[in-house]
Amino acid sequence: MKKNLDLQKLKLAVKGKIIVPGDQDYDQVRTIFYGGVDKKPALIIRVANSSDIIEAISFAKTNALELAVRSGGHSVAGYSTTEGGVLIDLRDLKKIEIDEKNKSAWVEIGLTAREVTEALDKKNLVVGFGDTGSVGIGGITLGGGIGFLVRKYGLAIDNLLAAQIVTADGKVRDIDAETEPDLFWAIRGGGGNFGIVTKFKFKLHDIDQVYGGMLILPATPEIISRFMTEAEKAPDELSTIANIMPCPALPFVPEKYHGQIILMSLMMYSGDPKTGEKIIIPFRKLDKPIADMLKPMRYPEIFFPDDSSYHPLAVSQTMFMKSVDKSLAEIILERLNASDASMRVVQLRHLGGAMARVADEATAFAHRQSKIMTNVASFYTGPEDKQKRQDWVNHLAKKMNQGDDGAYIGFLGSEGQSRINDAYPEKTFKRLKQIKKQYDPENIFRLNLNISLN
Ligand SMILES: Cc1cc2nc3c(=O)[nH]c(=O)nc-3n(C[C@H](O)[C@H](O)[C@H](O)COP(=O)(O)OP(=O)(O)OC[C@H]3O[C@@H](n4cnc5c(N)ncnc54)[C@H](O)[C@@H]3O)c2cc1C
Repeated sequence: MKKNLDLQKLKLAVKGKIIVPGDQDYDQVRTIFYGGVDKKPALIIRVANSSDIIEAISFAKTNALELAVRSGGHSVAGYSTTEGGVLIDLRDLKKIEIDEKNKSAWVEIGLTAREVTEALDKKNLVVGFGDTGSVGIGGITLGGGIGFLVRKYGLAIDNLLAAQIVTADGKVRDIDAETEPDLFWAIRGGGGNFGIVTKFKFKLHDIDQVYGGMLILPATPEIISRFMTEAEKAPDELSTIANIMPCPALPFVPEKYHGQIILMSLMMYSGDPKTGEKIIIPFRKLDKPIADMLKPMRYPEIFFPDDSSYHPLAVSQTMFMKSVDKSLAEIILERLNASDASMRVVQLRHLGGAMARVADEATAFAHRQSKIMTNVASFYTGPEDKQKRQDWVNHLAKKMNQGDDGAYIGFLGSEGQSRINDAYPEKTFKRLKQIKKQYDPENIFRLNLNISLN
């Protein structure tokens, strides 16, 4: 510990657990999803309630320590930990209250997408987060939340009814569209800039069995571009994620495909499975599937199993696109084949539907009309090849750029101010700055895609 911190008072004031370097669980608790991040917080406070959060903020301020906030720990930029600062760890806040009658739920912020989805599914209810069960509902919702229900029910934030947040002044605020509407607007896409959210209230939707899973197809320029055309034409109930990548050695895929570039799609028709099966036909007909795991299922089955020991080293770039025609698909395939990284991927998610029917200015997430969200990513093995893999990513992203320079903060790394500007159109950014000035004038919450006041 660099500073000589007096923890006695804090220990008495806090109900949760305080962890410092040398404690048995210190290394495990400070580890985040992405590998390559080895920051050592001066102390970690596994908070038990909002009053612990108030104490933690005050302690960080008094001792002039950097403050990091962690819900699920999946920050792409690695912001959910700090070197020598205070880490507010929210993972123990896991209460969920489902109001079946009014189709809403209060969910505490330490819950993961899987935990909320599974609890709701037992009541035939759903709210959409992303494609990965272990992602925390904190980070994903504050960024927007783009998942398998994006076309049917919009982003996670489009289903957000209210929130509780602890602001930099130590106040616990219950906010919604009527109470502190500016702050409520800002947290719907503005990330962790405005305070620490302790719980969200979501609007829920009925759900029964759905039709979905994985469909692996050969990756040719023709199939990739036709896949994207079908994804655009499909009804709102169908959301798709197309990953063009080397085929993993999956037991149900013939060995001859392992390592070959394939189109691995995850699809979800969130309606009657029989209709879903019909809607999927054009995708199945694109070519003879290499693997076809599509089936009637419960919604949470779409998530791959969690693996807490998985910490990939990855570089990436996120962007929005308009369309993927054959010639662009050719470029994608050429670049993927030119790389020897153990994993490299171009991920294409067709958006539209309910997400696009919300006005751009309704929330701080403003890329409502962008058609396709694309992520280009590559694994690297260590510092020696990181730059080479990043160059590959940047080169391909540049080739794919169609003039939409927007970015989704959920997938942004620490790429500098210009990319934060890309995440917010000018009007949105101006409003976010005003709200930041009001609620966090000292920029206490700065370890994030920061709305800096400078
Ligand atoms: C494998 C993987 C898959 C993903 N898939 C999707 C997807 O399908 N759709 C999608 O939209 N996004 C997706 N993302 C992006 C994801 O939404 C963001 O990385 C998100 O920030 C992760 O949230 P978290 O709570 O797990 O992360 P954390 O690292 O805990 O939080 C990230 C940041 O959010 C802020 N934050 C978190 N919780 C709070 C809080 N309670 N109060 C204030 N600030 C807070 C902090 O600034 C924190 O640094 C994915 C990311 C990964 C790694």
